[in-house]
Amino acid sequence: MSRQTEHVDILVVGAGLSGVGAAWHLRHHSAGTRFAVLEEKDTFGGTWVTHRYPGIRSDSDLYTFGYRFKPWVGAPIATAVEILKYMGQVIAENDLGRHIRYRHRIERAQWRSDTRRWHLQVRDLATGNTVEMTCSFLWMCQGYYRHDQGYTPQWPGMARYRGRIVHPQTWPDDLRHHGQRVLVIGSGATAATLIPAMAGECAHITMLQRSPTYFRTARNANDLADVLRSLEVPDAWTHEIVRRKILKDNSDFARAAHRDPEAMKTLLLDGVRAALGDDQAVQDHFTPCYRPWQQRVAFVPDADLFKAIKSGRASVVTDEIETFTEEGVKLRSGRELKADTIITATGFHLSPFGGIPFEIDGRPLDLHDTVTWRGAMFTGVPNLLWVFGYLRASWTLRVDLLGDFVCRLLDHMKARGSTVVVPKLRMQDQTMACKPWIEEDTFNPGYLARGMHLMPKQGSHDPWRHTQDYEEERVTLPAADLADGSLHFA
Ligand SMILES: Cc1cc2nc3c(=O)[nH]c(=O)nc-3n(C[C@H](O)[C@H](O)[C@H](O)COP(=O)(O)OP(=O)(O)OC[C@H]3O[C@@H](n4cnc5c(N)ncnc54)[C@H](O)[C@@H]3O)c2cc1C
Repeated sequence: MSRQTEHVDILVVGAGLSGVGAAWHLRHHSAGTRFAVLEEKDTFGGTWVTHRYPGIRSDSDLYTFGYRFKPWVGAPIATAVEILKYMGQVIAENDLGRHIRYRHRIERAQWRSDTRRWHLQVRDLATGNTVEMTCSFLWMCQGYYRHDQGYTPQWPGMARYRGRIVHPQTWPDDLRHHGQRVLVIGSGATAATLIPAMAGECAHITMLQRSPTYFRTARNANDLADVLRSLEVPDAWTHEIVRRKILKDNSDFARAAHRDPEAMKTLLLDGVRAALGDDQAVQDHFTPCYRPWQQRVAFVPDADLFKAIKSGRASVVTDEIETFTEEGVKLRSGRELKADTIITATGFHLSPFGGIPFEIDGRPLDLHDTVTWRGAMFTGVPNLLWVFGYLRASWTLRVDLLGDFVCRLLDHMKARGSTVVVPKLRMQDQTMACKPWIEEDTFNPGYLARGMHLMPKQGSHDPWRHTQDYEEERVTLPAADLADGSLHFA
């Protein structure tokens, strides 16, 4: 290690919602800890900076998608601009800005047992120079997908299409859709956002889906929050009360979906039917064949997607692409859809650990060879935690839970005089059957199915499970026994 090498106690990778949340926890609950947040973009926000397509907004409510410590005072579903404003306030109010270094990309991470530190190769994108930094603990907040490129399947004939093909993740500044025929391939939250946002300006916009998705629709307002505000209840109380109510409602919803999927299906379809006013369309395009909750149920605020369809400015086609043509796509049914622009709302490339090559004492790390400790740490990987949030609840709920956990872990290590913590399977865990990071039957979006071979495995019992269950983890994580032998301290 050269004398110029900078060392910090904790290094946080990424300044998205997870990294800014991590910085808040370190600032408030780990006094005296030297930490830095390294972010390759030139600003904070991660997902909410990368995605710039028309209408970009959350599909979770911001009472739970916001942090537990910073009241949300707007409508539940927020635009990217509103989310970034909220994050900017968190950074300013807590003096986090001095810890964040923008335009710094971590390009390599090596754990060395002789120094008991992570050695990081960091590129300063402003100068192009590479510097080495070391840290005692790596808090990975780099998200879960590649930011530079979205996932576009390859269809026959794409090269001969004469219009423009655009992925929502890399939205071009010069795209003009006014008066054009636009085709959106996909039926998830992104398509459901884009279509009402563009419908007023296009000649016509069509959503082409291979199979239907569940949608839930309601007013973009929260009645309880409105009542509490009219009573001049302080914002912090309103935030906490509304958050608890939403969490309770969501948990009841999830339980009901598991207990009686048919009843839940009927309830969801009735909502769409009421908004669309067209039984046949519901049957043809909005009746999925999977169970509600096997995939995230996309939320449509104020029924805007259905209003666009009802007005005739947007339509839905359920079919499969056989080939692209010069003017659009030809479907398996033989029908042809013509379009000036085709938008592929077809998802992400999963990218665990931000594509950073990792080594442990000179050996390359393949995350798939590891078993996770509570969906946050990994066998044989010292002093590292990854924030992988909830997929069916708000991501940020886990940011806060893991923030508390890291601070507790650091206190525990300090009290023991330990500098290294590494998860290891105990004798009783050696014969445990291992399962995928997320079980397909519980939740199976395409990007996870495509990338599961890149992800760590989980075990069949605690502390080796990755439950994706906030209700369970809000109890088990704070109570997790740090002395049960599954974490080795040195
Ligand atoms: C369009 C869209 C809408 C979504 N809506 C919701 C929603 O409503 N509710 C919900 O719960 N979830 C939603 N999600 C999931 C969402 O990604 C998370 O909720 C959350 O924003 C992720 O935050 P993050 O900080 O963990 O990761 P990200 O937002 O991905 O941020 C990671 C940051 O790390 C930086 N980084 C990565 N690698 C490196 C490196 N090597 N060096 C330096 N910096 C690096 C990136 O530049 C980025 O800024 C949505 C996702 C998308 C794509």
